[in-house]
Amino acid sequence: MVRFPATHLALLAALSLSLAAVWIFGGIPELASAADSTESAPTVPATPVPAPPNAATKPLDPPRLETFVARVRRGDTLSDIFDRHGVPARDLQLLIDSGPLGKRLENIFPGYQFEFGRDSKANLVHLKYRPSREETVEFQRIGDRFEAFALVKEPENVRAYQHGRIERTLFSACQGVGLDDQFATRLAEIFRWDIDFILDIRKNDEFHVLYNEQRIDDQFVGFGDILAVEFVNQGETYQAVRYDDGKGAVGFYTPDGESMRKRFLLAPLDFSRISSDFNLKRIHPLWKSEMPHLGIDYAAPTGTPVKASGDGTVLTVSTTAAKGNYIVIGHGDVYQTKYLHLSRFARGIEPGKSVQQGQVIGYVGATGWATGPHLHYEFLVRGVHQNPREALSTLPQPSPVSSEDRVSFDTSTALLLAELDSHKKSQQLASLDAAR
Ligand SMILES: [Zn+2]
Repeated sequence: MVRFPATHLALLAALSLSLAAVWIFGGIPELASAADSTESAPTVPATPVPAPPNAATKPLDPPRLETFVARVRRGDTLSDIFDRHGVPARDLQLLIDSGPLGKRLENIFPGYQFEFGRDSKANLVHLKYRPSREETVEFQRIGDRFEAFALVKEPENVRAYQHGRIERTLFSACQGVGLDDQFATRLAEIFRWDIDFILDIRKNDEFHVLYNEQRIDDQFVGFGDILAVEFVNQGETYQAVRYDDGKGAVGFYTPDGESMRKRFLLAPLDFSRISSDFNLKRIHPLWKSEMPHLGIDYAAPTGTPVKASGDGTVLTVSTTAAKGNYIVIGHGDVYQTKYLHLSRFARGIEPGKSVQQGQVIGYVGATGWATGPHLHYEFLVRGVHQNPREALSTLPQPSPVSSEDRVSFDTSTALLLAELDSHKKSQQLASLDAAR
């Protein structure tokens, strides 16, 4: 984002009246409409336009501008373009000397379109281009120099919906409906307290997601917030809605107002770091080598960060022949988690230190009895090993939406879920029709 001093803004305001007249009568084509022709022919000089009676500043030049558009070709520099159109090289130097925006003219790319305006003596008076959809940069001659200013458009949020069904991975399911990997990761992170995206994702799991698309001039420029999402994992449905309390707290909640954020992450590794095939191929030999098996194995590349699944205190940082490098974390009196076969420990992880959920405590390795790099993860309740997914589903949920926010939460949630549901129904009808 380019900022420019207030003085420039004031100047812009003063110039805008004369410029507006030039644009209207000079016939500079809009960028979009000129996109098909590489270079348009010079237009007929515009008829002089009388300044509006209330104009605060008299235009510096009479608005007799010849205008034309030049498109940057592969290998072009701006000086090539100036040459081609007979614009003096001195004017280019003046543009570049105008400041940081001028400096940026030294890096131009094929496809950029420059709108030139020159006076009857063929002096450049005005130059305008759009380095991105968001930004328009303009230069206006003031005597013997150029003033530069940039206008940055804020993208508009437009509601969008997608449905994806998993064939192999969440990433490929998202890509299949035009959602990028970063979006897939955000989607998974909403549910990381409920769904183990490394081990528990199955073919035919599906999602319905309502989100904002960011658009400028009706063109997609990026993904905005995810607003409501339903994820079906192995036949079980999870729903989450985004809620912003207007006081700085934004989070995802169940439709009942329970925070999605819970005391333990289900998987102590980021799924985005691990290809799903990795686990399917390599997990079985490990199980055999570790009977009886009291934990969950995540095959992952050596060096993958391992995260504390919950807030707690480090109890043990040690090495044995069987466990290799391992860590035990205590979470209050009831829960313990163990992380085995690490290649190394994270800096500062030692007994007595407190750790936070998601904090990196070590890195995946193959130390101890391990046939290949993997994390062996154990979850214990009062000293007894349990499947974390089962143990955690019975844990009371902390931090519901506050009672003072309840009405506002219910209203916004009902609207979002109704919208998601109506998209979902249309999608399901459409897929029924397609199957017929
Ligand atoms: Zn294991």
